[in-house]
Amino acid sequence: MSGQEGHYPPPFDGRSYDYQAYVDSKNWINGQWVDAQDGDTLVVENPRHGKPLGTTPASKAVDVDAAVAAAKAAFPGWRATPLKERVQVLYRMKNLMEKHLEELTWLLSHENGKTYAEAKASVLKGIECLEMGISLPNMVAGGQLDVSRGVNCEITYEPLGVCAGIIPFNFPTMVPLWMLPQALVAGNTFVLKPSEQVPYGSLKLAALFKEAGLPDGVFNVVNGARDAVEGICDNPDIKAVAFVGSTKVAKIVYERSAKTGQRVLCLGGAKNHLIVIPDADFDLTTSNVPASAFGCAGQRCMAASVMVAVGNADHLIQGMVDHTNKMTLGEDMGAITNAEGVERIVRYINDAEAQGAKVLVDGRQATVDGSPGHWVGPTIIDHVTADMPASREEIFGPVLSIIRVPSIDAAIELENNSEYGNAAAVFTSNGGTARYVMERVNAGMCGVNIGVPVPREPFSFGGWNDSKFGHGDLTGFDGYRFWTRPRKVTSKWAQQIDQTWMG
Ligand code: NAD
Repeated sequence: MSGQEGHYPPPFDGRSYDYQAYVDSKNWINGQWVDAQDGDTLVVENPRHGKPLGTTPASKAVDVDAAVAAAKAAFPGWRATPLKERVQVLYRMKNLMEKHLEELTWLLSHENGKTYAEAKASVLKGIECLEMGISLPNMVAGGQLDVSRGVNCEITYEPLGVCAGIIPFNFPTMVPLWMLPQALVAGNTFVLKPSEQVPYGSLKLAALFKEAGLPDGVFNVVNGARDAVEGICDNPDIKAVAFVGSTKVAKIVYERSAKTGQRVLCLGGAKNHLIVIPDADFDLTTSNVPASAFGCAGQRCMAASVMVAVGNADHLIQGMVDHTNKMTLGEDMGAITNAEGVERIVRYINDAEAQGAKVLVDGRQATVDGSPGHWVGPTIIDHVTADMPASREEIFGPVLSIIRVPSIDAAIELENNSEYGNAAAVFTSNGGTARYVMERVNAGMCGVNIGVPVPREPFSFGGWNDSKFGHGDLTGFDGYRFWTRPRKVTSKWAQQIDQTWMG
């Protein structure tokens, strides 16, 4: 298959990368590229022009089992490698990712449809996650105390064994790095299942980890879809599973993995509310709210989905419409990653309009240079009401639904009624109002005058309610806790034999 057809995005730095190295991708098991054992493949598309880019293995449980066997065999050696030595691999990986930043960005844009700036930002965020892993030896040192005369207690965080991660389509290079630094630094070995829609970024990570000196078998990639996920959930040699994706699948994975006895943490979907008070700063709010709703074409779990306008916010809404109308599709906003996404997004807009909402900015007919790719332009819908699906369900596209309410308490009540709880934000110039709202919203990641309140490292990432199943968060120190188990060692020596241990 010619991967160069309809070449997008163009080489950013005047260079073309070795595209053929990715198009017909394989699994990465025990340091080798291998096909799925039955040879089945799935097609990977370029969202920009909607044509095939290449293929990826449609792995089954048998392929997962092969990767787990390799990871299990590699575990004793990796676990016995001193922590400070394990971290050296991550140092080298960070240098390699910086060296290959343009290529990683290019690849991500190519398979996912993100703009160059968005793709680069998500790779950089992945590098920041590596930095967190690199700093862990300093954060986890020193967990000991003399708890009594002659009695010392120390805590160490031990690896679990073989661990696994399951990835969504929207951040194929970054989300693996929400998991891998902490899991690998802790001494675990790992099996990663990328999204079948965007497998190439993970394979580039595998190649770079190899170059960084990670021993074979410590990190494995098994491509595929549902069958591969089920193979992970059902394999008792996998001790912990992290999942990031939709709420529907998060629940399935959470229950199935728990049945196998795996430790499991599943981050799910979202419906994020931005509460806008009329006193909010005009320029900051009218640029930030659309950026939150339309960045990554609205395909991110932290995207603004509902703007709750408190009282008369007409001037701010008009400012957002003006701002949005100046956006150029294909440059300021990328493509929708798959055709089903386009259909779903357009259906939500159509339904809201039919139910009486007013479409202020309409992206339904949008395209880029007549391309047959997957496009929806930025869309703002006003006078959405709480009973409409557009106000309650995850659209996962560039649609901002505006609901008007008379008071701050009514805005908080609306946000609290969402079954999700990933992110929430308030836009206001009043510190007291900001505090009042922050103390009452029902979400795990909250922002004041920030539309995408992603907690930067070392703060951890995770929502509440139906946006997360399981305990704790990913990334940050919480991520380290997830991939480890604490061992407490209490010591007493013969020289202190006359002292009782509770004395
Ligand atoms: P998805 O749930 O469809 O897929 C996620 C993973 O599950 C993929 O690897 C896929 O192959 C696998 N999968 C799909 N259907 C399955 C099934 N029936 N059984 C077992 N495995 C299955 O999610 P997506 O469409 O790839 O990603 C978009 C979703 O991810 C959105 O809902 C978004 O909010 C969510 N997301 C959440 C976060 C977060 O941190 N909370 C971050 C990114 C994306």
